[in-house]
Amino acid sequence: MAIFDKFKQLAATRRTLAQCGLASVNVVMEKLLSPTEAIVNGRRTILAGTNNYLGLTFDPGCIDAACRALHESGTGTTGSRAANGTYSGHVALEKELADFFDCRHAIVFSTGYVANLGMIATLVGPGDAVVIDADCHASIYDGCTLSRADIIRFRHNDPADLDKRLRRLGDRAANALVIVEGLYSMLGDRAPLAEIVTVKKRYGAYLMVDEAHSLGVLGDHGRGLAEETGVAREVDFIIGTFSKSLGAIGGYCASNHPELDLIRFANRPYLFTASPSPSVIASTRQALATLRARPELRLRLWENAHHLYHRLQDLGLTLGPEISPIVAIRMNSPEETVRQWCALLERGVYVNLVLPPASPDGGALLRCSMSAGHTPEQVDQIADIFAALQEPGNAPGPMV
Ligand code: PMP
Repeated sequence: MAIFDKFKQLAATRRTLAQCGLASVNVVMEKLLSPTEAIVNGRRTILAGTNNYLGLTFDPGCIDAACRALHESGTGTTGSRAANGTYSGHVALEKELADFFDCRHAIVFSTGYVANLGMIATLVGPGDAVVIDADCHASIYDGCTLSRADIIRFRHNDPADLDKRLRRLGDRAANALVIVEGLYSMLGDRAPLAEIVTVKKRYGAYLMVDEAHSLGVLGDHGRGLAEETGVAREVDFIIGTFSKSLGAIGGYCASNHPELDLIRFANRPYLFTASPSPSVIASTRQALATLRARPELRLRLWENAHHLYHRLQDLGLTLGPEISPIVAIRMNSPEETVRQWCALLERGVYVNLVLPPASPDGGALLRCSMSAGHTPEQVDQIADIFAALQEPGNAPGPMV
């Protein structure tokens, strides 16, 4: 049984946390009522931890497009893009993504995780260097590991530290791939992209930006942080996902480098997994069109983000460093976090539970993500429930 020995520590941690309610952490959405409500544990629950930023998961246009594609093209492609899995919808979506980002090329992947894995492991290899923000998502770390390039981390959002690390690389810096995110998924803070671009240009390095949480959220057209910062032309590769603002599943890379089209044929996570189902592609295309046609969704999202941030701030909670649709509450201990998370769920609010090592600086978080689909009343209900838990009589009890 030796291969299982390494999980003993994990089992012990989960046992400890179960004592304060973690047993119910495997939340089952028993019935979805809307983008922002579901029945959970038999109770009507406000969903405040879904990444459904534009609330498009129940958009009638997206659902119709998906249903039509199911009838016309079937339930799945049953193969990879390189074999039998490239349908006209995949090609059309790639053109639409390239057009949206004002880039020459785009590649569609089966998930955002696979997009990071595929692009990083194909662009860099043994002998190259990949220089990443320390708080990057697991899929970026895993892509780096798969690439077998030298992995160098710089301090989160610290362009001076990035500069130092590139300088140390000497001649290799000109070939290095620098990777940052637009909005960071745990605390909702932006990368200082203008400064990062200045540094990468100083060394002639390449820059990849994962805009998973900023597509549809930042920029005048919703293209992300690169657009908002005015540096889109300086970003070599934009990575993203269909699983947040676009309400489906899948990933992409957009780029102006002419080689992008060619390197898809050297990209193992692109070549060796089945392509997204036609219905997923169809709803994603419709969601992208809706994102472009309805900027008011982005405005509503930001109104909700401001509203929740200010209400929670007024309660004296310690929040992430800037207002964004990701509203993170810093907690004192994993145990307290689990207790609060359970208490919120019991009162009808679902948020994300973030425990070490998933949290950025070793702390524990309760993470809310706002949606354009939340009504102002729902945002108030979320804040009211946080407020009720602050009252001494209502604070979740100590661990038993
Ligand atoms: N990048 C970032 C920054 C993410 O937060 C995520 C998902 N949480 C991904 C990539 C992976 O996206 P997907 O869910 O499409 O695999």
